[in-house]
Amino acid sequence: MKALILGRGVSGRGAACLLGSLGFSYQFYQDGDCAPDVSMFDFAVRSPGFPINHKILRLLRAKNVPTLGEIELAFRFSRGKIVSITGTNGKSTTTALIHTALKTNGYKTFIGGNFGTPFSEFALKTKPETVSVIELSSFQIEDLKSYRSDISVVLNITPDHMNRYRDFHEYAETKLKLLKHSDIAILNRDDPQLRSTKGDNIIFFSRKERADAYVDSEKIVVNLKKKTEIPLSELPLKGVHNLENYMAAATVLNLLGLTEDEIIRGFKAFNGLPHRTEFVGTVKKVKFINDSKSTNPDSLKKALESFEKVILIAGGSSKGLDFRELKELFKERVKEAVFIGETAELLAETFKGLSPILRASSMEEAVRKAFELSKPGDTVLLSPGCASFDMFKNFEERGEAFKKAVLKLKRDLEEKVEN
Ligand code: ADP
Repeated sequence: MKALILGRGVSGRGAACLLGSLGFSYQFYQDGDCAPDVSMFDFAVRSPGFPINHKILRLLRAKNVPTLGEIELAFRFSRGKIVSITGTNGKSTTTALIHTALKTNGYKTFIGGNFGTPFSEFALKTKPETVSVIELSSFQIEDLKSYRSDISVVLNITPDHMNRYRDFHEYAETKLKLLKHSDIAILNRDDPQLRSTKGDNIIFFSRKERADAYVDSEKIVVNLKKKTEIPLSELPLKGVHNLENYMAAATVLNLLGLTEDEIIRGFKAFNGLPHRTEFVGTVKKVKFINDSKSTNPDSLKKALESFEKVILIAGGSSKGLDFRELKELFKERVKEAVFIGETAELLAETFKGLSPILRASSMEEAVRKAFELSKPGDTVLLSPGCASFDMFKNFEERGEAFKKAVLKLKRDLEEKVEN
């Protein structure tokens, strides 16, 4: 068997690793390479980032060469249970949370997909007792065929990636396609796109009303065949968004048979991922939070809902998203704002007149200006609400630049005191 692997990135290389172990031969193709004779191949594997309307996909179809997504390929060679997590925001946090809880309690588990290791890289290591926890982006869901998830979570569906999809409806439909590949689906009832979803296999969680999982007087309650109650005081991650992630994770773990004590132990072992409302430190009683992974309006909204007296650093590269829905919250929570990057003008125009607004042309300048505007007890929050590619390689580099600038600020102030 010979495969054509479309895309030579992390997923493409993961697929190559799987195919190599199976003794298949393969060839990579990506833009810039000489187009191969597609009739030489038995099948093709598409990496999620490879354009869905690329002409080589048309050529493959014309020659009746089947094309699989990398996740679909991995699924076909995996064993054990699969938990799939999707949503616009919170995928990585919830995937890592569930995986940590399982591992802490001695389960044989793998984590991957859109987060960290490609599924193809560990599919052959899975056993009947394995639980694979797979983060799926909408790009990965597009290609699912026979993929079957024992339990799936859709955390939320809010505007993002409008540069890839025709409109929000098409983006939402892609995410919801996961439900057709799931035995049980856990959905957020507070999400307007998800609350009206119907089906026998659907379980809802909600922060606002009594669903199958809900919040009641300082605890999370999962009210299924087996009841689970988790005091909020036991949860290390704060913020309204993390409460949703905890509810979804607790529901998954309850369904997998973990006891209340095991779930609590698992949750306590997870201290969050870097660049997601990450506490960086305090300078003269001003708190600094790095939420560099916030790349759309809803993650910015959740960050603003989670902090008060905020000096906001936001802005970045444009994805054609609209921030007007955040105006009221901005007025309520943001004392001052410093905007950076390509979208600085758009943000300044959107939030004009609600709070004082400054611009900065580097992260260091933004941090310095934000600190100068702050008072003890305030929070300087980097939550860009936009992608990072205008000024940085990725969100990690942006978050590291923020942390470095905070450290420098701290050092400069200490030096001043010493002099
Ligand atoms: P994803 O993998 O979907 O991008 P992450 O866990 O990496 O999700 O978080 C991305 C951003 O979304 C961060 O700014 C984080 O604080 C925020 N976030 C995390 N969970 C949620 C949630 N349930 N709803 C909205 N925003 C969230």
